[in-house]
Amino acid sequence: MSHAMPSSNLSLWQQTARPARQWDRPAALEQADVCIIGGGLAGMTTALLLAEQGAAVVVLDAAEPGTAASGRNAGFVVPNLAQLDPDALVARLGEQAGQRLAQAVGQAGRGIFDLAAKYQIDCAAVTSGWIQPTAFAHQQDRLYQRFSQWQALGQQVEWLDKQAVSRMTGTSCFAAGWLDRSGGALHPLRYLYGLANAVQGLGGRIFANLPADRLVWQNNGWHISAGQTEIRAKKLVVCANLARAPLASQLGPRPLGLQIVQLATYPIKGSDAQRLAPGRQPVSDIRRDIFTFRLDAENRLITGGMAVWPWETMQAMARRMLGRLARYLGLAERPQAEFLWTGEAAVTPGFMPVIRQLGPAGWAGIACNGRGLAATYMLARDLAALVLAEQASEAATALPVTELDNKADRLVFGRSFGALAPLGKQLILWRGRQLDRLHGIQDYIFNSAHSNGAG
Ligand SMILES: Cc1cc2nc3c(=O)[nH]c(=O)nc-3n(C[C@H](O)[C@H](O)[C@H](O)COP(=O)(O)OP(=O)(O)OC[C@H]3O[C@@H](n4cnc5c(N)ncnc54)[C@H](O)[C@@H]3O)c2cc1C
Repeated sequence: MSHAMPSSNLSLWQQTARPARQWDRPAALEQADVCIIGGGLAGMTTALLLAEQGAAVVVLDAAEPGTAASGRNAGFVVPNLAQLDPDALVARLGEQAGQRLAQAVGQAGRGIFDLAAKYQIDCAAVTSGWIQPTAFAHQQDRLYQRFSQWQALGQQVEWLDKQAVSRMTGTSCFAAGWLDRSGGALHPLRYLYGLANAVQGLGGRIFANLPADRLVWQNNGWHISAGQTEIRAKKLVVCANLARAPLASQLGPRPLGLQIVQLATYPIKGSDAQRLAPGRQPVSDIRRDIFTFRLDAENRLITGGMAVWPWETMQAMARRMLGRLARYLGLAERPQAEFLWTGEAAVTPGFMPVIRQLGPAGWAGIACNGRGLAATYMLARDLAALVLAEQASEAATALPVTELDNKADRLVFGRSFGALAPLGKQLILWRGRQLDRLHGIQDYIFNSAHSNGAG
């Protein structure tokens, strides 16, 4: 039976999460030890880690918690940073700081699953790992280097040769890959709601539809204006990701927003599900036009992509992505989309999560960069450590803390995301697709040479 393309832009998760507890109603004046702005995964995890330590926290969100990236992603839990392998982190931050950050990133997947287990959050957690394959045989060495770096750090990783990767992904389209056992997948919104319930259970208060617009440090405390409400807090944490004006202007250079289209198919046949993901691991390859797939608990295939040109509609994107699923995964017929939605992912220069000092006892953090689930956990740990330390300078954070008006920061953000950023973004995506095509040709030559006994 043929189905019409879905017309609602609500995510699979928004349509299948059980409702959270009621959000709290703010009084005209609220007081707290810590005010957390942004009720996505970064803000809510920070709130929970602080509430666990006895801090009185309030969380406020401009909309419903979970309506931004945290409720619109694909639910892959990936314990690394998209473009920064351990060696690159050491090159950028120095031996000690680079190693510390790599360790923290590597532990972040487990951190999420441990938190879900601790609070018995029913979020369909898949804890059997995450697979990163390559479709191109000539790129194996590059991928092997990445695998080796994580292995050297003690991460639970396995190299997958062609046979192993075919067995684990049920398709012959990959040449090799690696598995990080500490990754996995989950229902991100059920996880977020579970965190929110835990925060409220520990006495924290969560306000929805309350956009913060002004942050002022006065008389040794923060005064946060949000419409008719004023919140006074000893410390402030902002996890507003792609915040807009007027708040954005108080948080330093804004990251770039990248529009991503996600879809979930109708549940596929049990035999196909068993073939494609016998271990249920999510898969993201290393193409520039990245190919990802995973199954949810009901055996829907979930995948995503980015539009290269502004005139590519969501529906056209969906048709392209469904065709790709059928082709790469060897499905007898093209699956149909049951859920189709978009989301905006924040991208920072160099794909590094960011912590900025907002003033005395105030910090803003951005984790996104497409690998944001695990990174939000790492960021939240750092933000909580900064809040809890007697002297913030003594907090052992994994991420560097930069000043709000850091000139280098402004320069890098300005250079990367200046007025031509939207055009640059399209050109980078277009170039990525062309490079994938070129890699396909290179691979053909590589394979021919190897099957002829060369190399
Ligand atoms: C389509 C898509 C797919 C993705 N897939 C994955 C994936 O599979 N795996 C992965 O690891 N990562 C993925 N990511 C990234 C991941 O979803 C994000 O990194 C993560 O959810 C960011 O969480 P956050 O709490 O920092 O931000 P958000 O979830 O964006 O939350 C920020 C919150 O701040 C609030 N806010 C903004 N301004 C104000 C204000 N003035 N006052 C009060 N509140 C305010 C917003 O309403 C929002 O709720 C994806 C992202 C997208 C968009």
